[in-house]
Amino acid sequence: MKRRTIFIIAVIICLLAYLPQLAPEEPVPDRAEGTLMVEFLDVEQGDSALIHLPNGETMLIDAGERDQGEHVVATLQEQGITRLDYVIGTHPHTDHIGGLQEVIESFDIGEIYMPKKLHTTKTFENLLLAIRDKGLSVTSAKAGVTVLEDEGVFATFVAPQDTDYEELNDYSAVLRLTFGETSFLFTGDAEAVSEHEMLNSGQSLSADVLKVGHHGSTTSNTVAFLKAVSPTHAVISCGAGNDYGHPHKQILKRLSALKATVWRTDEQGKITVTSDGTTLTVTPEK
Ligand SMILES: [Zn+2]
Repeated sequence: MKRRTIFIIAVIICLLAYLPQLAPEEPVPDRAEGTLMVEFLDVEQGDSALIHLPNGETMLIDAGERDQGEHVVATLQEQGITRLDYVIGTHPHTDHIGGLQEVIESFDIGEIYMPKKLHTTKTFENLLLAIRDKGLSVTSAKAGVTVLEDEGVFATFVAPQDTDYEELNDYSAVLRLTFGETSFLFTGDAEAVSEHEMLNSGQSLSADVLKVGHHGSTTSNTVAFLKAVSPTHAVISCGAGNDYGHPHKQILKRLSALKATVWRTDEQGKITVTSDGTTLTVTPEK
């Protein structure tokens, strides 16, 4: 063989060896087609859950404090997400809606749901301005409102039931999401008053996966409510060494009495739950 031919062959072999590395990265984390995946993001002391629906649509519930916005946006962009079909701001506290302004500004947004409750903080006002500047509007999140119903997936609000509360936390939009035989309950920071109303409403509250109310605080998670939900998996979203002592020991005891497996973002980072409609798989980041 001529030297030149050998050189060309060598170049081709090198190119073939590098080819896999040049291929684009998998846009969405390992997920079988037609499954539902929920990522409880680690946003320190706050809440944020990213939901990949079986039909490819995406939903984001809360985005942590304002300084977590960048982290949430980066996490979504790393996965190739350019559009959020549904955005839910559970209630106007900054540890839930703080990062949403950056999210709204960074992605193509479908529908936005928030409870009908105004708040006078700059963070909340800036969020409303960002929504307005994009020509979007907010749909009221309240019990009975259905967010989606599609191919075995059903998402509806079970709270707030009322329009007037003493505690801002009780305005929390609580979403129950079901896929096949599996179910999830995202409670925001709904406290005992709202839990009591949800119980009295007669709606189904049972869920295989519970996003534990108010970062595992004793102001939420009453025994009766936890019994009604009866979760197999309980996810607590909170920051390591937070000022509130979340999660409270008493709540961890209640969850253990119900034989629920507790997952914590402060200790295990992002918690990923995948459902094929029948079986759930939980994968902690660490
Ligand atoms: Zn909170």
